[in-house]
Amino acid sequence: MSCRFYAELNDFLPPDERQRTLVRSVDAPGSVKDFIEGLGVPHPEVALILVNGQPADFGRLVGGGDRVAVYPRFGRLPVPGLPLRPAWTGEPRFLLDVHLGRLASYLRLAGFDAAYANDATDAALAAASRAQDRALLTRDRGLLKRREVERGYWVRETRPRRQLAEVLRQFELADRLNPLARCGRCNGRLEPVDKAAIADRLPPRTRRHHEVFHRCTLCGRVYWRGSHVARIEQLLARAVNAAD
Ligand SMILES: [Zn+2]
Repeated sequence: MSCRFYAELNDFLPPDERQRTLVRSVDAPGSVKDFIEGLGVPHPEVALILVNGQPADFGRLVGGGDRVAVYPRFGRLPVPGLPLRPAWTGEPRFLLDVHLGRLASYLRLAGFDAAYANDATDAALAAASRAQDRALLTRDRGLLKRREVERGYWVRETRPRRQLAEVLRQFELADRLNPLARCGRCNGRLEPVDKAAIADRLPPRTRRHHEVFHRCTLCGRVYWRGSHVARIEQLLARAVNAAD
């Protein structure tokens, strides 16, 4: 049988197997999901599968002379043919593996719901991403291949700022940034708070120069439009430019 991977799915293949039709012989028919993952591509990265030109789901048995074509998602464009997973509705929700703490913080500062725990096991991450319908972001391809993971993305970049730009681009989020919506430390929502209620916790300079404050509804951390938020906005502006 033969298989062709399109666009960024080639990132998972050895260099000499990219952008070309791969021919494999199989002893017995198996699911197209196992076949694709055996070639190195985790199933959450796949948005559309064609077997002999017809849309197929992950359970489709393939073997013999079958021709398989595999496509990634293209941003938020609807996928033609057979949907491989339910539509993702509402606010984007992410779950990050233990190595992506800085990226989790950046996503929160951009206003996105980004769950993260530095002690989560792979099994717990896979189960939580499914139960909470969160896209699992990871640098671990093996984690993405776990059966329970429905939505996920292998983060290609290794540096946090570049990772932020990559995720904004991949999930088409650049026009949905909302700084001062979430706490970078704990992912809690921020709400406006009266200066009087928190004045005793502010450094004197901040108390003199600022009037508008937000407080995390979970951990209580206070945010204001000062140098801190200016740095966040600078970071996001750079990420958006890089994502474009
Ligand atoms: Zn917080």
